[in-house]
Amino acid sequence: MAEIDISQPRECIGRAFKGKPGPCPHCGGVLRQEYLTYLITAQRDGQLQNGFIAPENFGLLCPACPTIVVNSDKLRELIGLRVAPWAAGTEFALVGIVDIDAVPAEEWTQLGRETWPLPLIEFSRISGEVFLRPDGSD
Ligand SMILES: [Zn+2]
Repeated sequence: MAEIDISQPRECIGRAFKGKPGPCPHCGGVLRQEYLTYLITAQRDGQLQNGFIAPENFGLLCPACPTIVVNSDKLRELIGLRVAPWAAGTEFALVGIVDIDAVPAEEWTQLGRETWPLPLIEFSRISGEVFLRPDGSD
């Protein structure tokens, strides 16, 4: 299978689904589940707080157009697991994909510092359930 170019900004569509989400909502292409590294940031009272990066497979990329469908149930689960020790915010946002392969593995601990700014590919547009509170309230 051809490699999907993740360096292109994508529209992120958050959806709750079990199994597969069906075809790409934009072009009808066959979505492909991939392990990607995401940047998730916390927000408290409208102010951005720290974020964390996590490799996850809750996103499905369209090989034909710049779309990613994210399983919002899985995202909520991850935030629920990660928030307890961290607790910096009351709301969370999925911001984009980190092009982790652009940085040598031995430099990963330096990510986000001056030497290796985060190679973040922000989503061009975000819709659906990707801005969440860990307790599931809206
Ligand atoms: Zn598509």
